[in-house]
Amino acid sequence: MKKVSKIKIKPKFSRFLKLFCFFACLFLGLFLFYCKQIRDLTSLEYSKEASKNILFSFKKDYVLSVGKNKTLNAAFESKYFNENYLDNYRKIHYVKHKRLISHINQLLQKGYSNNDINIILAHGNDDSVDRFIERDKVKYLEEFFSVPYAKLDNYDRYIAYSDATGEDEETTVLFVNLDLDKEDYNDSTLVEEFSFTMLVNKHHHLSSDFEPDNLVKIDRKYASEDDLLCNRVAFEAFKRMSQKALDEDYHIVINSAYRSYQDQEDIIKTYLESYGQNYVDKFVAKPGYSEHQTGLAFDIGSENVSVFANSKEFKWMQEHAHEFGFIYRFSKNGENITGFRNEPWHIRYVGEKAAKYIYENKLTLEEYWALFLDK
Ligand SMILES: [Zn+2]
Repeated sequence: MKKVSKIKIKPKFSRFLKLFCFFACLFLGLFLFYCKQIRDLTSLEYSKEASKNILFSFKKDYVLSVGKNKTLNAAFESKYFNENYLDNYRKIHYVKHKRLISHINQLLQKGYSNNDINIILAHGNDDSVDRFIERDKVKYLEEFFSVPYAKLDNYDRYIAYSDATGEDEETTVLFVNLDLDKEDYNDSTLVEEFSFTMLVNKHHHLSSDFEPDNLVKIDRKYASEDDLLCNRVAFEAFKRMSQKALDEDYHIVINSAYRSYQDQEDIIKTYLESYGQNYVDKFVAKPGYSEHQTGLAFDIGSENVSVFANSKEFKWMQEHAHEFGFIYRFSKNGENITGFRNEPWHIRYVGEKAAKYIYENKLTLEEYWALFLDK
């Protein structure tokens, strides 16, 4: 038989190996335990960074008892985390603000309740919350901020407007957000981007060189004069509407469409000569403030009747224009919001979705804009 030679390990080395194995197992065990703890937290949608901080601050049991909570996650991710506010973080609704946790801390220090903070955060962005924190603590937050689209930055104007007019919260918020507490044409907002739902009125203006997208010439067949222009999509919609009307024996025609800044200036000059300053101030939009400059507005006439409001076409349009993406822009009921008197002949293309909503809810474009588009 062959003799199997055995490798002899020196006793000292053997002890070292045992010790090494012991620590290796210990570290592996600890590492696996740590991974499991992190997994418990990440499975509740806490980020890895937040989970690490939760473990190192020994708050795992607390967090597990709470469960999924985006504000807590943000708190444990933040360098402004303050352990004393743990319960507040848990109760305050998450909003996607960059400085959320530092804002919560500062608002708590000012003495605001969790409910107040929820209101403040829901109605502002990072910058407006920064500004709000600068001021003394305010009372009666719920009064105006029960209106979903109330803005933190407008707080003082809401109070001033409501004091001056006695209007309810909802009207106050709507009117102030639309700048109706300001003088017409004064301190108005410049609108730079073209869109089918863009708002142009006495508080939202276009620059003198603003040109709408895709201007096309209106076929003479649809217009009472040559060389009228409008937006291409609005024209396509008009053609469909005009055809549908014709099928039912209604004859509509475009009397005016796109007007440049210069065109509006010229109109004012003509009206000034014929009707005087008072009339112009009251009824004609200043250059830059007419939505005819968007290429989306049309003045409509009937081929049969000189006063459009008296025509059967007007009645038909009132019922059907929205089906093609048009709205009646200046109605009798909306005069105090639009700032213009009732104009039965003036329609505006806003797209079918907006037109349907505006028609069904009997809104002005201003109200639709304040509800859905004001950023
Ligand atoms: Zn018009």
